[in-house]
Amino acid sequence: MTRALHRPIKRIVVKLGSSQIADFAMKPKVAKLSGLCRQIKELQTQGVEVVLVSSGAIALGMGELGESVRSQELAQLQARAAIGQAALMRLYSILLHKVSLKCGQILLTWDDFDDRTRFLNARHTMEAILKQRVIPIINENDTTSTEEIKFGDNDKLSALVAGLLRADLLVILSDVEGLYGANKKVFNEIKEITPEIEGLAGGTKNTQMARGGMKTKIDAVKIATQARVPCVITSGDIKDVLVRLVNGEAIGTYFIEKVNKELDGETEHEFIRSCFKNCKGG
Ligand code: GLU
Repeated sequence: MTRALHRPIKRIVVKLGSSQIADFAMKPKVAKLSGLCRQIKELQTQGVEVVLVSSGAIALGMGELGESVRSQELAQLQARAAIGQAALMRLYSILLHKVSLKCGQILLTWDDFDDRTRFLNARHTMEAILKQRVIPIINENDTTSTEEIKFGDNDKLSALVAGLLRADLLVILSDVEGLYGANKKVFNEIKEITPEIEGLAGGTKNTQMARGGMKTKIDAVKIATQARVPCVITSGDIKDVLVRLVNGEAIGTYFIEKVNKELDGETEHEFIRSCFKNCKGG
C-alpha cells in the first residue's frame, strides 16, 4: 500500500531508542544497526539527508561495565552515559565506514533549544556536517542534564531536532508497528492528536533499558507536527523500513503536520521553544 506524502522528502530525522541499539544483555545489536547504516547510504544515494537521534549510551555503558540492572541514581546513570556514548560512537563510526560514510557527534540539552544563539549554532553546525555528506548523530548531553530537564529516551529531543533542521519527516523507530487503535489495528494516518488518541497511547513504560513508551512518542509527535514536521512511528525491525517509508510505502502510523504560515527566524525559534514547553510536563 502506498502513502501520499505531502512533500518531497529531502531530509529525515530518525530516532532510535535504547531498545533499538542494545539487547537485554546491554550489548549492541550490531546486525540491526549495520542494516540501518546500509539504508542510510541508500537514502543518501537517492539524495536524502539523514540525521540520527540515537539513545543507547546508558545501555551500552551498562554493557561495558557488565551490568544488567539500571541504577536509580542520576550520577551513576550519567557516568554510564559518558562511558557508553564512546562505545556508541565507535560502533556507528565502524558500521558507517563499511558503507563509506562518516559520522559526527552532537550532544544537546534543553538549554541549546532555549537560547536562540545556541539554537542557531546547533543548526549551523548540523547544516555544515550535512553539507560534507557526513551523518550527524545526536544524543542528549546526559552529563549536564538533570532529571527535571531531561528529554526522556530522546523522543522529544528528536522532535525538537526535526523542527530545528526543518526536516521533511521524523521517523521514530520503536519495537511496536505503530499506534494501535481500540480494535488492535495500527492506525495508518492520524490528522489530529485528540484526547482519544492520547488515551490510546497509555502510560509511560519504565524498563532496565530506558524510559519512554508510547506516551512520550505521542508527546514528541505533538511537538514535531506543531513545528510542521510530519512523523511516522513504526518498528525498527521492518526490513528496509527507512528506504520504503521515504519511497511512499504505507508503513507504521503517519501523523500529518499542522499547516502554519512561514515564520521569520526569531519567531521560528520562539515557536519551537513553545511547542516543547507546551508538552514539557509529559
Ligand atoms: N540519552 C540517554 C541514552 O542515550 C537516554 C536513555 C535513558 O534514559 O536510558 O542512553
